[in-house]
Amino acid sequence: AIEISGLRKSFGTNEVLRGIDFRVGPGEVVCVIGPSGSGKSTLLRCVNLLEEPTSGSVNVVGVDVTDPDADIDAVRRRIGMVFQSFNLFPHLTALGNVMIAQRKVLKRDKAEAGRIARENLERVGLADKIGSYPAQLSGGQQQRVAIARALAMGPEVMLFDEPTSALDPELVGDVLGVMRGLAEQGMTMLVVTHEMSFAREVADRVVFMDAGAVVEEGPPARVIDDPSHERTRTFLSRVL
Ligand code: ATP
Ligand code: MG
Repeated sequence: AIEISGLRKSFGTNEVLRGIDFRVGPGEVVCVIGPSGSGKSTLLRCVNLLEEPTSGSVNVVGVDVTDPDADIDAVRRRIGMVFQSFNLFPHLTALGNVMIAQRKVLKRDKAEAGRIARENLERVGLADKIGSYPAQLSGGQQQRVAIARALAMGPEVMLFDEPTSALDPELVGDVLGVMRGLAEQGMTMLVVTHEMSFAREVADRVVFMDAGAVVEEGPPARVIDDPSHERTRTFLSRVL
């Protein structure tokens, strides 16, 4: 689970997160939506401590990651993160890309890392691409390798930051399908996305952020189809 309370983050004098509170329970899928610059990526980056919160608390998988004594590296290993850019190593095959962090970070031996890599490439529908290099894969396939790479680490929660926004429209569905499968298998997921149909069908809750604050949150049918706030309505009229 993820519990965020009173989270603030400033870059210099620019306060980007202005007191964020919300929770993602075990097995829940929460989608975060909101305009560009509203702080969505910064929020995700505070959850896995790629950014240090200015104040407030972020509790992930039972550890307060803002506690100076917390073992951040150990917590990070339990959080999978998938970004808009896939950042695969170009000189490694799909299999190699899914093995490398298992080998280096988790110190798994080659046979075990290879077995787990194959399982997870299969899970994202790429059993026939294990020997392909990133340049030989479509954007959607590369993003699925990136998801397999995160899953191979055995995360307890998965964070996604606009995982489909760099993809050609015809490739988006495969990636969302994999994410939907993960949700159905009970993965705890925090997903920043502009894919409203995904949010509507898969999310347990939708959080609308604007200017560093949560404007409203609730079940997708309420927030997306019957928003309470004018700012949410304005945003949705632009993306729907
Ligand atoms: P988008 O939808 O475009 O991805 P976002 O909601 O993810 O936007 P953030 O990337 O979180 O927005 O950025 C929120 C604000 O924080 C922006 O004004 C941005 O310029 C600022 N910001 C983000 N990262 C940094 C940084 N490392 N240093 C300074 N300012 C930053
Ligand atoms: Mg962003």
